[in-house]
Amino acid sequence: MDYPVLLAAAEAAARATTGRGHVADYIPALAEADPEAFGMAVATVDGELYGVGDWEQPFSIQSVSKLFSLALALAHSSDGGEALWRGVGREPSGNPFNSLVQLETEHGIPRNPFINAGALVVTDRLHSLTGDASGAVREFLRRESGNPLLDTDPVVAASEAEHGHRNAALAHFIASHGNLQNPVETVLEHYYAHCAVAASCRDLVLAGAFLARYGVRTDGTRLMTRSEAKRINAVLLTCGTYDAAGEFAFRVGLPGKSGVGGGVLAILPGRAAVCAWGPRLDQAGNSVAAVTALDTLTTLSGCSVF
Ligand code: GLU
Repeated sequence: MDYPVLLAAAEAAARATTGRGHVADYIPALAEADPEAFGMAVATVDGELYGVGDWEQPFSIQSVSKLFSLALALAHSSDGGEALWRGVGREPSGNPFNSLVQLETEHGIPRNPFINAGALVVTDRLHSLTGDASGAVREFLRRESGNPLLDTDPVVAASEAEHGHRNAALAHFIASHGNLQNPVETVLEHYYAHCAVAASCRDLVLAGAFLARYGVRTDGTRLMTRSEAKRINAVLLTCGTYDAAGEFAFRVGLPGKSGVGGGVLAILPGRAAVCAWGPRLDQAGNSVAAVTALDTLTTLSGCSVF
């Protein structure tokens, strides 16, 4: 595939969405992002790297971090993830990412690992397995991206904690059902710390390419089995883009994870990881520019999982 040509076309389509959507402001520190910023990068399984626009500019990865916390929790599990999947489901929720409603009828077992409730459970298990959930995510991102400066933005993490009543409510509710192993405060601290990591499109494609390589890290060693990588890609496809996963599959046709910082990391299994970023979000919380860019890339190349 001619990635430079595809990226140029994707950028042009994304820039044409200028003015559409709104920058997230429920975490006040996120509202400071430049609404017109746009970047996109591709890392192929053969080690090629391409980028356009602000592809090297760090942004708040937010829920994109949930892909990495899940992958690491599974990789550290000694039972193939069996215990983890007892505490969190793998069905789309059809509800907003921070919704509380299903938790009550489903006895504190979140629908999937990518809504906030599910990500809190995954963070909890990763913390039990490693002793430092957010540190494990940061270390993985640093090693795979080769960027030692990649870090949590403390201002964003503090802003999340200060306005985190809903996440605290979710965590307490889950704990009331006995589905957290660590104190609520510890789980929230590590959850905010990995959501508040600042990383660029470049960093994220390099760190996410293990899924395009079916579980193999940058250095050629295996993080997880091929089957586990398939499973993560499947959950990304069905649950990775809020309650618009159907629309994302329809337009883009790739497993992907979005975050309210405006980033979307998508996987072309066997080929490449692709990340696009633009801070303006649609109603569901997905970046207008990033989804448009990814839609353009898969439409022009004819390359999707379908
Ligand atoms: N840290 C954010 C929250 O908990 C993540 C939201 C997101 O990107 O979906 O609300």
